[in-house]
Amino acid sequence: MARYIGPVCRLCRREGMKLFLKGERCYTEKCGIEKRNFAPGQHGKTRKSKLVGYGVQLREKQKVKRIYGVLEDQFRRYFEQAERTRGITGETLLQLLERRLDNVAYRLGFATSRPQARQLVRHGHFTVNGRKVDIPSYSVKPGDVVAIRERSRKNAIIAHALEEVKGRGVPEWLQFDAEALSAKVSAVPTREQINLPVQEQLIVELYSK
Ligand code: SF4
Repeated sequence: MARYIGPVCRLCRREGMKLFLKGERCYTEKCGIEKRNFAPGQHGKTRKSKLVGYGVQLREKQKVKRIYGVLEDQFRRYFEQAERTRGITGETLLQLLERRLDNVAYRLGFATSRPQARQLVRHGHFTVNGRKVDIPSYSVKPGDVVAIRERSRKNAIIAHALEEVKGRGVPEWLQFDAEALSAKVSAVPTREQINLPVQEQLIVELYSK
C-alpha cells in the first residue's frame, strides 16, 4: 500500500498542531511546530484565512489521515467500512484506524512514532497469534495476541523505543506483558481510549455531502 514519503513536519505545520510523526524529535525544540508554527509555503506566514464549513471538515480529515499515515483511497475505504458497520460512523472509523497493526505496535511502545512502527511491521518484526504478519494495515480483533518475533526481541530500534516511551503508558484495551513483549487485545477501543484531539463527526459530514 502506498504511503506519503514527503517532508513530514510540513504536514504538522499545515494542520497547526503536532501530529508526532518523527518520534523523539517531536518532543524537542527542533520540532517544526516549535520552530515555525505557521503554515508551510510562500504565503504561510502572512495568509491567515479563517476556515469555515468545508475547509474545517477537510482539515479534520487530513489531520486523521496524516496521524495514521493513510492515503485518500484507503481512508475512503475505511470510511465506507465504518458506514456499513452498526454504530456511530465517526467513532467506528477511528476504531478501524486504531486497530491497524502498525498503530498497535506504536501504542505498545515498540516504536517511537507510527511511521517507525509501520516500517518495523513491514520488516516482519511482529507476530499475531504466533504467525508473522508484515502488513501495517492488518486489523487486530479482540482475543488476538500481538508479539515481537523471537529473533527480533533484541532489535536495537525496538529496545530503544521501549526505553524512550516508557512513561507514555499503554491503552487499556491492550493487555501488555512487558516480560513477554506481547499484548492481548482485550476489546475494541472506546472513543475515550483512542484519545485523539479530532472531531470525527466533521469527517462524516464531509463524506456525506
Ligand atoms: Fe510534527 Fe514531530 Fe515534525 Fe514536530 S517534529 S513538526 S511533531 S513531525
